[in-house]
Amino acid sequence: MYDIRGLNEECGVFGIWNHPHAATLTYMALHSLQHRGQEGAGIVCSNGESLFGARGMGLLTEAISDAQLESLQGFQNAIGHVRYATTGASEIANVQPFLFKHSKGDLGLAHNGNLTNAVQIRHALESEGSVFQTTSDSEVLAHLLIRGKSPNIKTNQKAALNQVKGAFSCVMLNTNQLAAVRDNNGVRPLMLGEVDGAYCVASETCAFQAIGATYIRDIEPGELITFSGENDIDYDYYSTNINHNMCSMEYVYFARPDSEFHKHSIYNVRKALGKKLASEMGIEADIVIGVPDSSLQAAKGFSEYTGIPNEQGLLKNRYIGRTFITPDQSVREKQVRMKHSPIRDVIEGKRVVVIDDSIVRGTTSKYIVKALKSAGAKEVHMGISSPPLVDPCYYGIDVSTHAELMAAQHTVEEMKEMIGADSLTYLSVEGMHEVFREFDSKGECDACFTGNYPIEIVDHQLPEVKELKRRGV
Ligand code: SF4
Repeated sequence: MYDIRGLNEECGVFGIWNHPHAATLTYMALHSLQHRGQEGAGIVCSNGESLFGARGMGLLTEAISDAQLESLQGFQNAIGHVRYATTGASEIANVQPFLFKHSKGDLGLAHNGNLTNAVQIRHALESEGSVFQTTSDSEVLAHLLIRGKSPNIKTNQKAALNQVKGAFSCVMLNTNQLAAVRDNNGVRPLMLGEVDGAYCVASETCAFQAIGATYIRDIEPGELITFSGENDIDYDYYSTNINHNMCSMEYVYFARPDSEFHKHSIYNVRKALGKKLASEMGIEADIVIGVPDSSLQAAKGFSEYTGIPNEQGLLKNRYIGRTFITPDQSVREKQVRMKHSPIRDVIEGKRVVVIDDSIVRGTTSKYIVKALKSAGAKEVHMGISSPPLVDPCYYGIDVSTHAELMAAQHTVEEMKEMIGADSLTYLSVEGMHEVFREFDSKGECDACFTGNYPIEIVDHQLPEVKELKRRGV
């Protein structure tokens, strides 16, 4: 059986070509991408003749030991991955990068996103005798790459990439080249950088800052960049059908505020989302606070627009993981309580606007409103710096069913009552897109807010996958 929840994942990738400390820099870069996945990590290196790898479960520091990192020293080319997965597929076999040994040559592969026709392709390949070792959709891509008939690697890569649908920012390492590709809808980010004369790629530019690399530019949708030789670089596209559908939630929530898309910091984008929300919300209050950490910038923008003082009304326990990316609901509920603590002196007797970036299941919002009221808030008005999440994501974010989404089940008025707030206001879809355009975005996916899916979702139409969904698997 295929675990359809296991297909959904939010990850971070990194790759570097021709640097004497490739493994160490990959390790450092993955450390700064840790927010994109905390359940597994790995590195695969090349010495020009063979590939070698290390991977494990948990945070990077748990997944790769000092001894393992030491064993990868001396290799000049590397790719790395941090992984998030849902419960069913949280196992070592699915931790990337994958390393395939084949008579045609070794292949290392790591990918961020979700293929929407992986099950369909897998069925076809299995019927022709292919055997799969994991439940990951990335293995499907590896099979397609290895089955290529051409002696030219890039020709095979293009042929394989044109067969898969979905969101994928991917790094592929052979013994004599590293290729980086972004899907032709550009859903997940992928950036090009340079350090000490060596090229590198990363899901976010915060990884470049961590290793002292210069951020050159964003890799374009459909672009396939190949690094080889001393420092040869080849720019190409695997598809002529190019669309711009960058994930809106990358701007709103996922990316680190010190990362940049299109040369603009996420920090400033989130501040602008807060300003836009303020312009649409129109509320009187004594203080505005942000839910730490991802909503602090939106709260600052809200304050700048309205003149309502911005205070730190909630403290975050930094030693608890992110609730959004912890698989089990019962653990999630306990963590929310441990995670945010109100500061009574700031809150007491005040009309409080509290800004959060999104409401998924409502667990966090409910607790926060309750905690603020217990700390003496006269009123609690909740502002959300993105539109209501009403539809699942099939492109790599772990929101896989309508049942998980509070806004899919209830009106905003009902949600306000359920979380106990005095008012609840969301940013409009139009307002959100206006903000992204101010920061040179050429277009975004907003499917989880609108149901307008830009890429065909093939697998979820298959009878066996529908049956799994019906049974709530
Ligand atoms: S559906 Fe939502 S979370 Fe998924 S890629 Fe689109 S905007 Fe991002």
